[in-house]
Amino acid sequence: MSRLPVISHKRVLATSSNSSENDQDLAPAQKKTRKDPEPVKPYAASTIIGTRRAPVAPTKAPISRPFRPTGAATVAAAPSRGVLKQSIASTAPRGGNIKAAAAPTGTKAVTGGAAGTKRQAWDLKGKVTDMESKLRNYQTKVKSVNQENEDLKSTTVKSQTRVTDLEKSVAVQRSQISEYEQELQALSGVREELDKVSSEKSSLEKQHSNLEGKYKVMETLRDSLETLRDSQETELQTLTMKLSMQESTLSRLQLTLRDAEEEVRSLGDTMVQQKDELHAGEMERRQLHNAIQELKGNIRVFCRVRPLTGGGLSQHLQLPATDNKTITLAKTEESHTGKTADTQKNYNFNFDRVFGPQASQKEVFDEISLLVQSALDGYNVCCFAYGQTGSGKTFTMEGAEYDEARGVIPRAVTQIFRAAEKLGAQGWEFTFTASFVEIYNETLRDLLYTGKASKRPEHEIRKSVNNEVIITSLTYEKVTNEDQVLGLIMLANCNRSTAQTAQNDRSSRSHSVFQLDIEGANVGRDVKCKSTLCLVDLAGSERLLKSQSQGERFKEMTAINSSLSNLGIVITALANKDIHVPFRNSKLTYLLQGCLGGNSKTLMFVNIAPELDSFGETLNSLRFASKVNDCVIGTASANRK
Ligand code: ADP
Ligand code: MG
Repeated sequence: MSRLPVISHKRVLATSSNSSENDQDLAPAQKKTRKDPEPVKPYAASTIIGTRRAPVAPTKAPISRPFRPTGAATVAAAPSRGVLKQSIASTAPRGGNIKAAAAPTGTKAVTGGAAGTKRQAWDLKGKVTDMESKLRNYQTKVKSVNQENEDLKSTTVKSQTRVTDLEKSVAVQRSQISEYEQELQALSGVREELDKVSSEKSSLEKQHSNLEGKYKVMETLRDSLETLRDSQETELQTLTMKLSMQESTLSRLQLTLRDAEEEVRSLGDTMVQQKDELHAGEMERRQLHNAIQELKGNIRVFCRVRPLTGGGLSQHLQLPATDNKTITLAKTEESHTGKTADTQKNYNFNFDRVFGPQASQKEVFDEISLLVQSALDGYNVCCFAYGQTGSGKTFTMEGAEYDEARGVIPRAVTQIFRAAEKLGAQGWEFTFTASFVEIYNETLRDLLYTGKASKRPEHEIRKSVNNEVIITSLTYEKVTNEDQVLGLIMLANCNRSTAQTAQNDRSSRSHSVFQLDIEGANVGRDVKCKSTLCLVDLAGSERLLKSQSQGERFKEMTAINSSLSNLGIVITALANKDIHVPFRNSKLTYLLQGCLGGNSKTLMFVNIAPELDSFGETLNSLRFASKVNDCVIGTASANRK
């Protein structure tokens, strides 16, 4: 009884308004949450919840673990603080109306006992009974509410413990989370590093694969190098063996060499001695050669008879088989009267040598090769071909191109170059200068000229300071071999044939002079020599009838006649040792002055045409030649310095 007002008071403090609707609304909720059908319980439960709220923050709810609902389902479903207050307030009846508020439930139970009966005002005893039963009811309710309160208290304690635990766990978890966050941060750094490292790794992998490729190449290289090294080692061994063998051979050879050197030294001495002897011998040979030439005569005449054009023998020319120095020209003169017998007139001529029609170019040259040798020894040598046109002068001097038919000029040149080469071994050095000139109508023409015809220079014969004959503006060509000389001969023939076309048969009416100036020096012995080899193809010696020679031809004839006869005069004067030798009377003798003087050897070929109709010209030629042959030119001396 004493506790009822307390509860009533509390409820008055807690409530601000009463609402029957709220009471009605609350009833279904109570049904849902409680099995106990007692109507008082919801009020008590609501009150406790309203005053003692679980401290769990709604924001933290998701983190906390769900806990077991113990008796009070409203705790688990607890709304926010504000909402809860309102709900508590709405469940409580307004102040001063507690009785009325509790009445419905309580009354129902009481009225259940005195159903339908209303106590009379006077029935006080009945009213007390009712009141007592009501009180009992309330006491039971209070008991159960207290019990429930106790339960709730223990649950609250448990929950608080649980909350504390949970808070601790939350704190722990928070710290763990921060740790994890730190770790995560650290890990993100690590991740970046990892990315970096992985990119580095991929580049390193690339490098690695590159290096592997290189390594493989190097391995192959190494293998091949090893193979090479092996083979080279083997080779080296072989070479070392060879070397040691060769070293021993070398030492042996060195000994031999020393001996040989000794021998060479003594041989060198001998050689020097022999060279001296050789040189002395060479000089002696020259002297003897010259002596022979002098004995043969410094002017010699060879007669050469050309073969008949149609073959056979000429009756008027007699060449004794036993003697190769005589030629007889026989002429049968018919009796004018017819009464006397025909008389035969023989003209005998002696020459240094007579060559018949069968004589080869080689045979002819062999006879004059000694003279050519004299040219190298330092004597001037002059060789003429005299005779009428068609008698074989050009054939003798130049010959034909094929080997057997080569004439005096190419053969002489060959001999000179060969001999010069041999003398080279004895210390002689030679230089050769060639020139080729034509004398036509007392005019000089350069046969080695290669310029324009319109610019052809004029030439004069002059004497140099050394009293040497030179021709102005003439081509003097240095030659070192036979082929060059043959080239010059061809060039000369070209030049001649050009003039030939302009003037019919000109070559036969001009002299052509080939000159080879030879200069030799033996530096070691301080000996020098200088000479000229002159090879002359003279103009045709035929005399034309005066009636046939008019104008130009007369001039030509006169020029030829005068130069040829002057040649005879000069040779005769030289032979007679006349004080005055008329060299300057013709261009030919003036040009050949050096070669014809006392210091020269002269050879004249007299070429004979075998035809009978050439008899007169043949006789003339032979007469001229024998006149020359009779001359004795003063003793020649070599042009030595
Ligand atoms: P030239 O120069 O005196 O006028 P060539 O030398 O031109 O005379 O000779 C005239 C012709 O006779 C040429 O065809 C030449 O080949 C020929 N001949 C001259 N001499 C001989 C010889 N000894 N043997 C053969 N043929 C010759
Ligand atoms: Mg000729």
